[in-house]
Amino acid sequence: MSSPLPLLTAPETGAATRPGVLDVPPDDLRAWLAARGQPPMRVGQIRRQILAGRAASFEQMTDLPKELRADLGRAFAVFASRVERHLAAADDTHKLVLRLPDDRMIECVLIQDDGRATACVSTQVGCGMGCVFCASGINGVVRNLTAGEILEQLVMLRNLTPPAPFPKREGGAGVSTPSPSDGLATRLTHIVVMGMGEPLANLDNLLAALAVAGDKNGLGIGARHVTISTVGLPAKIRRLAELGKQYHLAVSLHAPNDALRTRIVPTNDKTGVADILAAADEFFAKTKRQVTYEYVVLGGLNDRLDHARQLAGLLAGRKAHVNLIPWNDVTGLPYRRPHDDDLVRFIDALRRAGVSVKVRKRKGSEIDAACGQLRRQAESESLLGGTP
Ligand code: SAH
Repeated sequence: MSSPLPLLTAPETGAATRPGVLDVPPDDLRAWLAARGQPPMRVGQIRRQILAGRAASFEQMTDLPKELRADLGRAFAVFASRVERHLAAADDTHKLVLRLPDDRMIECVLIQDDGRATACVSTQVGCGMGCVFCASGINGVVRNLTAGEILEQLVMLRNLTPPAPFPKREGGAGVSTPSPSDGLATRLTHIVVMGMGEPLANLDNLLAALAVAGDKNGLGIGARHVTISTVGLPAKIRRLAELGKQYHLAVSLHAPNDALRTRIVPTNDKTGVADILAAADEFFAKTKRQVTYEYVVLGGLNDRLDHARQLAGLLAGRKAHVNLIPWNDVTGLPYRRPHDDDLVRFIDALRRAGVSVKVRKRKGSEIDAACGQLRRQAESESLLGGTP
């Protein structure tokens, strides 16, 4: 299948037992600081050190008194999650398997290309939606991630981007040498909420994390650069629309009619395609943001010419975009990728009907184990007590 995976970080044993400081409500942290005679502005200093300054330990926060740094380190962790595995591909894609404080594992990915740095993050441990082709939902959902756990993924991935170089000194005589990381963004530019879990089933915590991500004192990633991908929960799509935020909505359609969609996406028996499209239309009407429809292409199952025609019929008259995702193999599942000629025929039928369509690029192919697979592998190895 794939070449041996480059393991950059040796697994650490055990997860942090102290709470992650990003998950401590600012008021509580202020009170904790006040009890130690520290002014409220320390909250901003600590958060800034992590969010902007890339601090990975309280010791590195040299603008704080030494004793306070030690106290903080005893009470809190900068990151509650630990890097269980860090895999890097030749095209600068990085995948992290994180171990949470309760020893559960999640995945997140950094994709770097064309001056962009995109973080793909998880919102739940596992997933309760049960899409038949997906690795994340094989054992159901365990729990929602906290806002801090979602934010930590973003910060940890951002910390893998090259730091901005120091500004060149005026009149300096030195010859500027190009840095090895030329062309790579020095911060996160985009977020896609397409990791493990159903984001709209954990909307409050996701929105809290995205609020910090969007803040200029946070990670400075505006709503227009954030894509939220959902299985299609109409009530939650409507709630998101009501917020009037400029998030980009991606709806995982995967089939053009209810009978087939319910086979592939079991939650469809409660929602139905029509109501999902109606909710997405409302999202578009409120936000003026074009909706993307994702369509995992499963060879022989939803890739027939007739499916393309039905899909074009569904989307006719809608300002929408289709993202085709040829299925990524998941060990043990009985599906296959589409044949190239079937995929081409599918795309042609959509284009001829005037539908905007793209096929998702594969990034980091040597670490491209479909989302959720790596976690399963890491979990079973840690159950066996072995490390690779
Ligand atoms: N729960 C959200 C986020 C899931 S991940 C949702 O359903 O949209 C983002 C996309 O990847 C979804 O469209 C999902 O269906 C798709 N996906 C999951 N497993 C896949 C696989 N093995 N191959 C290709 N796409 C997959």
